[in-house]
Amino acid sequence: MDVSSHKVVVCGGGGFIGGHLVKQLLHDGVDVIRTVDIKPRNEWYQVHPGVENITADLKDLEACKRAVKGADLVFNLAADMGGMGFIENNKALCMLSVLINTHLLMAAKDAKIKRFFFASSACVYNGEKQTNPNVVALKESDAYPALAEDGYGWEKLFSERMCRHFEEDFGLQTRVARFHNVYGPDGTWTGGREKAPAAVCRKVIEAKISGKHEIEIWGTGEQTRSFMYVDDCVKGTRMIMESDIHEPINLGSSELVSINQLVDIAEQFAGIQLKRRYNLNAPRGVNGRNSDNTLILDRLGWEPSTRLVDGLRKTYDWIESQVEAHACV
Ligand code: NAD
Repeated sequence: MDVSSHKVVVCGGGGFIGGHLVKQLLHDGVDVIRTVDIKPRNEWYQVHPGVENITADLKDLEACKRAVKGADLVFNLAADMGGMGFIENNKALCMLSVLINTHLLMAAKDAKIKRFFFASSACVYNGEKQTNPNVVALKESDAYPALAEDGYGWEKLFSERMCRHFEEDFGLQTRVARFHNVYGPDGTWTGGREKAPAAVCRKVIEAKISGKHEIEIWGTGEQTRSFMYVDDCVKGTRMIMESDIHEPINLGSSELVSINQLVDIAEQFAGIQLKRRYNLNAPRGVNGRNSDNTLILDRLGWEPSTRLVDGLRKTYDWIESQVEAHACV
């Protein structure tokens, strides 16, 4: 299946990954007929001309019906989400995203959509397999027996199952990718929903500007993660959508770093060294998590490969421009 020969709708198109996906698809000549997001358009990270850009609440079934009308393919990247600081304190809100995916699936089934993509998350994985910073990378089967991240992770796991059963019972073709920590420019960098790479860049930039050479790090800083550059995420999303992979599949980098190492890299960009204060009471998530890419390599012959130092440089520069622009206001 080639996305290029179909009419495409991107849900969550005003968000970080959705905005980049639309940009790349348009660049590739794909007919993106519509993007939908709950935010007013002036709050979208990217608004692309030539596309019907709609503001609507996709928790509502009627809005979902309008969203998918006339389309062949639907990418669902809409969710009420954020970094650890948000998902640990807003479990009910995160779980309400189940309405988005439920109603979009129902609307897609009725509209005879040819294929439906769902953005799941590494937060579906069993927490007991993520207790050690020296992780064994998570393979797809590690989601079961289920012990997902409370709230957000359970919603993603349930929605994955719903995609599976819509395919089995109703013949709606579904594809599911488990994104592992995505970062890059044109995403959330402040306000409480930002994730670790953006938060670390912003804190280092603010320390540099203010001359107060200190940084607060959530947890011990020894937690490990892998971070995927957004261009890799967008490329993998399209490849998975076009593939015949019917089961949820990891889409993440396998370059494992600690949060301390992430801070080291941002400090190098800034040319400063900061005194580190560790806040052990702050949300910190699991101790270690990495993506096992055996399956994606086997099925697609590809894995996300942008080096963290390269992707973070672009992210750092973009956040610096944002911090400066906000300081001028
Ligand atoms: P984002 O918050 O930037 O984008 C999500 C968008 O969905 C937002 O613009 C938001 O306004 C929109 N939205 C929320 N509720 C809505 C509703 N009721 N109706 C319509 N739109 C609604 O987040 P993102 O980082 O771009 O994430 C995109 C998808 O990828 C999400 O499903 C997220 O759970 C998943 N994901 C992201 C990451 C990551 O590291 N960024 C990791 C794993 C999974």
